[in-house]
Amino acid sequence: NRAVSEVDPELHNLVVREKERQYEGIELIASENFTSRAVMEVLGSSLTNKYSEGLPGARYYGGNEVIDEIESLVQRRALECFGLDASQWGVNVQPYSGSTANFALYTAVLNPHDRIMGLDLPSGGHLTHGFYTAKRKISATSVYFESLPYKVDMNTGYIDYDKLEETALVFRPKLLICGASAYPRDWDFKRLRAIADKCGALLMCDMAHISGLVATGFASSPFELCDFVTSTTHKSLRGPRQGLIFYRRGPILDKDGNPTGKEYAWETKVNMAVFPGCQGGPHNNTIGALAVALKEAMTPEFKEYSKQVCTNARTLAEQLVAMGYSLVTGGTENHLVLWDLRPHGVGGSKVEKVCDVAHITLNKNAVPGDTSALNPGGIRIGTPAMTSRGLVEKDFEKVAKFLDRAVQLAQAIQKEVGGKMKDFGPAAEKDAGVIALREEVV
Ligand code: PLP
Repeated sequence: NRAVSEVDPELHNLVVREKERQYEGIELIASENFTSRAVMEVLGSSLTNKYSEGLPGARYYGGNEVIDEIESLVQRRALECFGLDASQWGVNVQPYSGSTANFALYTAVLNPHDRIMGLDLPSGGHLTHGFYTAKRKISATSVYFESLPYKVDMNTGYIDYDKLEETALVFRPKLLICGASAYPRDWDFKRLRAIADKCGALLMCDMAHISGLVATGFASSPFELCDFVTSTTHKSLRGPRQGLIFYRRGPILDKDGNPTGKEYAWETKVNMAVFPGCQGGPHNNTIGALAVALKEAMTPEFKEYSKQVCTNARTLAEQLVAMGYSLVTGGTENHLVLWDLRPHGVGGSKVEKVCDVAHITLNKNAVPGDTSALNPGGIRIGTPAMTSRGLVEKDFEKVAKFLDRAVQLAQAIQKEVGGKMKDFGPAAEKDAGVIALREEVV
């Protein structure tokens, strides 16, 4: 029962350093957040010791009476949190992360080589929505399934639904995927449903980034019109690192809400795909911690928090636009801002590095029209983490000023260095093969 500081001082020091880094810096990575002390307590609890392959009431190991209660509680809370009726929706709360939740869902509803369509990575989509490059299949989801991405309009930055429809009618995917990692606007689920119906596709939403906003009504809910919804629980939902899969169950209703006499048959397929299909024993400490996070997410305080997340993002966007900067889609309706730095001649990776030195953490990000993911033209900025630390509009006005200074500094040094280097001879040849490979992979 010795403390980690005694058992392993080296690791303890690293944990302390990381805690200080998080505490002292401005955390603007859109997918991160600071989960509560109560959630952390359960993460570090004895729930981590237990094996519980299977589902509540049907386990492959003994001693699961408490774990059964915990998992059932999380299932109930997950449905309640998103306003779902247990007669119409089921949920699997065991996926270890968002990526495994997506892969398990594909395993449940697709056969190898079935066709999928998701938002392209450079347009803001996620790797697990079928990403590949011209030379390589990057994500396993493009190795096992035939994937054709749709994109945002290069001029407006909004999803090009017309082009998506045109392509979907030719490609005829079995699964149409919406949801993103870097899209600052709400989704048109009505249009997506209509496109899916026209080409005979199932519709899935990966709401990982916006799940906290969906739970509190500050982003459109995908549940009304999608067949499946997956999510992470550690982004705007502010929980532990975990994945969720929601699927329709019970009687299939027609457009007017009348029973068709048929029933959805996804439940067993989804549950079997998670375990034993893709995973082994559930991480019960995380599942327990998720119970706490979901309880927190249903409080009025969390609703206020989500509202502030959006207000802060809007404030940041307005400040940056007022300073003459250019944002993808011109602004934001959610928790993130996608800043196009190309007009200012400085790349996203350079600004990321300058900010890192200044204890501001954000990430370089592709913006529409980018050709290099290694050195993309933009940065992604999110407000969930700093809103958890209590920052409000006036603080984000200050954050905008810090960011402006970082960009100006990167620009000024780049200009000065470029001018100076003109006095010297040509650089030695770099290893072109390595550069090409990195360009392709990243
Ligand atoms: N889906 C989306 C939209 C994401 O943005 C992410 C991660 O950022 C994931 C899935 C994957 O989640 P995880 O990192 O937990 O596997």
